[in-house]
Amino acid sequence: MGVVLFMENFRLDPWGHVLIEEYEKLFKFFGLSPTKNLLERIERIGGKSKLYSRGIVFAHRDLDKFLNTVEHGGKAALVTGFMPSGPFHFGHKMVADQIIYFQNMGVKAFIAMADAEAYAVRKIPRKKLLENAKNYVANLIALGVDPKRAVFYMQTNYEPAYYRLAQMASSKVTTSELKAIYGDIEPGKVIAIFTQVADILHPTLEEFGKYKIVVVPVGPDQDPHIRLTRDIAERLGTDIPGLSKPASTYHKLMRGLDGGEKMSSSRPESYISLNEPIEIATSKLMNAYTGGRPTADEQRRFGGVPDKCMIYELYLYHLLDDDVLREIYDKCRNGRILCGEDKRFAARLLRDFLDEHQRKFNEIINVVEDYIELPKY
Ligand code: SF4
Repeated sequence: MGVVLFMENFRLDPWGHVLIEEYEKLFKFFGLSPTKNLLERIERIGGKSKLYSRGIVFAHRDLDKFLNTVEHGGKAALVTGFMPSGPFHFGHKMVADQIIYFQNMGVKAFIAMADAEAYAVRKIPRKKLLENAKNYVANLIALGVDPKRAVFYMQTNYEPAYYRLAQMASSKVTTSELKAIYGDIEPGKVIAIFTQVADILHPTLEEFGKYKIVVVPVGPDQDPHIRLTRDIAERLGTDIPGLSKPASTYHKLMRGLDGGEKMSSSRPESYISLNEPIEIATSKLMNAYTGGRPTADEQRRFGGVPDKCMIYELYLYHLLDDDVLREIYDKCRNGRILCGEDKRFAARLLRDFLDEHQRKFNEIINVVEDYIELPKY
């Protein structure tokens, strides 16, 4: 769900240890709260999670209120959306992991396939969007998202009350407010914005189960949109009693394999798709940007820089448990492992993961239309 990042005077570069201060600025700049202060409570309710213990999900708004509702047995839901504009990759998997974590707390997940947005913003042909949406849903289920505790829907093919909400939301914002947040935008994007507001708020409507509160896991670039939605929820309060402000969590954005900007479907060299041939996936990994030194001798003498390394980032976000992760980090820093050897180890982990995932995916893709209703065009 693309939204202009509205932060002046500093560039958000969300990667690596050395840039953590940039994330810290967000707390002040946007009034976010750090999740580390809630870690004990989150893990008491939801169990241990690398997402939180490793600081991948690093900030929140009102997550404490959301947890209160969960702890007291109130109805709580998660809302997220995927723009099905290209292959499902490891950046998407991180969101899947968050859905699964909250589902395990008993939370229902509402998962939008943001086809309206992908059509408006990325100009992807409709036929391709429908294919991609099926692929995304099958990937999510193969990763462990429980379809019994999820509602998968297309933004262009949902219930009347959802569209009514989008329409009402659009009358609560002025053109200058929109311009201040998003700049000059085309009508298609304006519609996509209010569709996203409806994505976030609709589970609190009676027609969708009257959930007391929703949480939205997003990257920090989405925060302007969350703030707009929270304002709209307040302004709609007199017309729709019971509409509550959403809570939100903020995760770091996985970098591209080239060590550049975030992993993105629009830059094939930046991602590993969960559906690409395993040989291609491992070859992308072998060519990924690392924190290694120019020569083996220098690496042995000075050690590598795992915090800058994309192989390490794959370990951190996806591939390794705490013990081995710590061991590799130390070995790298102390020059006791070279990048070639380590990449071969990572490639084996990746191969095992993709083998298993693609086997499950191939079973689910054949029946995926049992889980999502597609429009005709
Ligand atoms: S040894 Fe591994 S973790 Fe360290 S820089 Fe090389 S690839 Fe990255």
